Amino acid sequence: MSLKHTKIILFGPPASGKGTQAKVLAKLTGLPHISTGDILRNLDLNTDLGRQAKSFMDQGKLVPAEMAIQLTLDRLKKPDCQKGFILDGFPRSLEQAEALKKFLGGSDYIVIYFTLTLKEAVDRIAGRASCPQCKKPYNDKKDPPKKSGICDNCRVPLVKRDDDNEATAAKRFQVYNAETAPLLARYKKSGKLVELDATKSIEAVSKELKDLLAA
Ligand code: AMP
Repeated sequence: MSLKHTKIILFGPPASGKGTQAKVLAKLTGLPHISTGDILRNLDLNTDLGRQAKSFMDQGKLVPAEMAIQLTLDRLKKPDCQKGFILDGFPRSLEQAEALKKFLGGSDYIVIYFTLTLKEAVDRIAGRASCPQCKKPYNDKKDPPKKSGICDNCRVPLVKRDDDNEATAAKRFQVYNAETAPLLARYKKSGKLVELDATKSIEAVSKELKDLLAA
């Protein structure tokens, strides 16, 4: 697939499908999928850093800005990101947006804004689970596995994220509205923002996303 943009920032509320679409796009383009949430979830829980990150995540709060910035920018400095990247879940605050802007310098990038209603996002979180082995995401209503609770590919039980419970999810939406959503105005003003209707099926959103990014 030939791309007009190779520095791609996926922006939107929790459960808007950024991670799912990033995986599809990464397969299609060969660009690395950089998810700050995945980086944090993969930290070693035997270290202070790992335990600290998990405690913020379990409360639905953002991890401290300097932690998110350092881990994400260190990852973006790796050789595989030189040709471009699909950034999922960063930036999430003004401080992070400033750090990213500085990092990107004058280079071209695009911000894709995944739009969906709060109700839709809450329903998705309630229904979502994924395979612990192949990481394929499922949803009880929209994209159920053939056998309830079991991955179609690996035949192992699906797992829910620790922070996908009602209380933590509510906090994550509150944090999104307070700290992340204000970045929209900034990206709109910069002319880098493109909106994407994220309420459609995974396939329909992927198609729209491909069309947006194609040369
Ligand atoms: P996600 O996988 O993107 O839904 O992120 C899961 C959790 O990881 C969030 O609720 C935060 O606790 C933490 N997190 C992910 N990205 C960031 C970020 N850019 N800044 C701070 N915390 C983050």
